[in-house]
Parts: sequence; C-alpha cells; structure tokens
Amino acid sequence: MRARERRLGTLSEPDFSKDIIAIVGVGLIGGSLGLAFRRAGIGKRIIGVSRTETVDRAKEQGAIDEGFAYDDLENGIADADYVFLCTPISRILELLPRCLAAAKSGCVVTDVGSTKRALVEAAGGHGRSDVSFIGGHPMAGSEWKGVDAADPFLFQNAIYVLTPGVGAEREPVERMISMITRIGAHAMEMDPVTHDRVAAAISHLPQMMATALVSLVGNMNEKDGLPLKMAAGGFRDMTRIASSPFEMWRDICKTNAAPIKDTIDAYLVALSALRDRIDKDALESDFAYANEVRDRIPRDSKGFLNPLHELLLVVEDKPGVIANVASSLADVEINIRDIEVLKVREGEGGSLRFGFGQADERERASQTLTALGYTVLSR
Ligand code: NAP
Repeated sequence: MRARERRLGTLSEPDFSKDIIAIVGVGLIGGSLGLAFRRAGIGKRIIGVSRTETVDRAKEQGAIDEGFAYDDLENGIADADYVFLCTPISRILELLPRCLAAAKSGCVVTDVGSTKRALVEAAGGHGRSDVSFIGGHPMAGSEWKGVDAADPFLFQNAIYVLTPGVGAEREPVERMISMITRIGAHAMEMDPVTHDRVAAAISHLPQMMATALVSLVGNMNEKDGLPLKMAAGGFRDMTRIASSPFEMWRDICKTNAAPIKDTIDAYLVALSALRDRIDKDALESDFAYANEVRDRIPRDSKGFLNPLHELLLVVEDKPGVIANVASSLADVEINIRDIEVLKVREGEGGSLRFGFGQADERERASQTLTALGYTVLSR
C-alpha cells in the first residue's frame, strides 16, 4: 500500500465535542494528547488511566478531567468513544487485549507506539467486529519523559502515521484523520510493515549509529581524553540522540529487530563501499549524491511533507536576537511555523532559518525584517 498524506477538507468535519476520550498511560505523549485535545475542543471528558501520582499531576496540568488506576482500566474506558494507548510498547501489548475486550460498541482503540507491525498483529483477530483498532505513531517527541513534559503544541506540523488493521472500515479511519488534523498534525496512512521498514532507516538506524559512534569515540577517549576535548559542533549534532533513554529503545528494538538488522547490514555495505573509495576521485560522487538527497529532505524539523516557505536571516551573536525577530513579526501578525539556528558561532554570529505557512507571509516577513536592517535571504 502506498503511503498517503491526508488533509482535512476532503471530509465532512465530525463533531468530537461530545465524545469521551480515554488516555491509557498519561506520560509525555499521552499528556500532550490530552492538552492538545483540550485546546482543540475535542472531547466532552478526557479520562486518564495511570498510576495515582500521574493521574493527580495530569489533572493539575489540565491534561485529563478524571483518572483511574490500571486495575480499574475496564471501568475507566467503559464509556470512551476513543481509547489512546500511550504506555511503552511492551505495556501496550499487555493492555491492548483488555482495552479491546472492555471497549464499548463503536469505540476506536488506537495507540502511539513507535513500531507498528507487532501491535497491529496483536490487535488482529480480536473478535470485536463492533470495535476498530487503528495503529498510530505521532512522529513528534522530545528527550523528556512523563506528564510534566507534556506539551499541547507537540503535534503541530508533525507527521502522524496511522496503520489501520486489515479490513478496518473507512469511516473510523476518516474520523481519526480528522481528529489528528484538528490538533495540527498531518495524518499519513500506511501499512504497518512499510512503517516499520521506513522507521528502521530514518529513526532506528540513526539511533544505533549514534550509540555506536559515541561508544567508539568514548573508548578512544579513555586513552588520553583528547577526542571529547576536541569534539566540535558536528560531532555533537550528529550524536545528540545517543543521549536517548534505553527504556523506550528496548521495546522498539525488540518489536522491530529484523528491519533494524537489515538496515544495519545495508548500512555496513554502504560504509564499506565508501571505505574502498576513501582516497579515490569517485568519493566525490558519493558526496554529491548525499548533498543532493539531503537538500530534498522537507525542511520542517518535524517532517511536514509540504515544505514551509523559508527565509534565512544573517544575525549577530547577541542575546535577544530571536526574541526581537519574533516580536517584530508578531507585531505585524505573521505566524512563525518553524525556527532553526544554523551555524551560529560564539562571537561571530551566523544565520537563522524561519519557516512560514504561506508564501505571502514569507514575503511580508522579508519586507518587515529588511526594513529593520536585517540581512534576509529567501530560498
Ligand atoms: P513516557 O513519558 O515515559 O510516558 C509513558 C507513560 O506510560 C508513563 O508516564 C507511565 O505512566 C506509563 N506506563 C505504564 N506502564 C509503564 C511501564 N512499564 N514503564 C514506564 N511507563 C509506564 O513515554 P512517552 O514518550 O510518552 O512514550 C509513550 C509511547 O509513545 C511509547 O510507546 C513510545 O514508543 C511512543 N512514542 C514516543 C515518542 C517520543 O519521542 N517520546 C514519540 C512517538 C511515540 P504511569 O507511571 O502513570 O503508569
């Protein structure tokens, strides 16, 4: 099945304001969903199923209206129109059968796990033709954990993959697409095997590469302490994800082991070919191809498929630059969709990349900032 991006506007818009939403595991993703639903007017009541301390924090933050313990999960989700399973993947696998059995007729059960095949398979054949399971993966997150890190804007501009189970009816899938679009995300439908194969290449392999590279340099560093002392921005940038907590990755690796191994094998072949060309002129074509492919990556950091309208701003390195630019644009009601700091060196300055939703916003931003004396480059 080909992956497709779906947008609101092709659908008659459902009304979610009377629905009951249950979030099982109110952590970073679950809490962020609760807050995002609240902002979007989705859900008459948002119910959390989590440990008591988490439920209390989530209520304080306004991510849920009421809470239940895991022991009481069946009561917690009994009236829910939508159940979002937001625990680590291994725990989703444990709780999924209970949710599917206890869900009311017509309920949509979904999850947010970072791998999809194992979960969609586990939901297959659940024997409830009146309950739909639709796998989900919001491709947004942070290195923080728990409900305290929840963010109502986490899903804005993020790709949100949906992997409906085999034979899933269209109507609940369309409703899910509509709901996701309302919280600012971009729904993409694909089959779970494709999701896991692509995720292995763009997410899981980079994690393994970062872990291996930092371990290699760490071992070299043990001798004389020089590598880490000399490690500059490039090394830091490329290895940021080596700081990821293992808890989440344990489950990802266990439930997507074969695609990750295949991708590592393919990478080793590519690296070995590069090794053979390291002192040959042919190496230039490897760089040329990689440069060209990198340029084709959608520039929104959350992977928004529709590229944003961008401009580059050449700035001095001094405190308050971003705040000044942002408030100047806010004064003329221009909404910044994305900001990236590019190569700003201490004392030297550098450039900032701003992304806007519309071409005319970029044009107005360019005029505003040029008039304020900034050097603006559009691209
Ligand atoms: P999180 O902040 O740690 O939240 C997970 C929540 O699940 C916890 O707050 C915890 O709440 C509950 N939980 C239940 N059983 C647990 C267990 N055995 N161990 C740990 N927590 C348990 O994690 P998250 O980042 O929201 O991730 C949740 C899911 O989202 C995962 O399946 C992950 O693959 C997926 N995901 C994560 C990201 C990301 O970048 N973080 C992005 C996309 C998808 P209680 O303590 O109240 O039980």
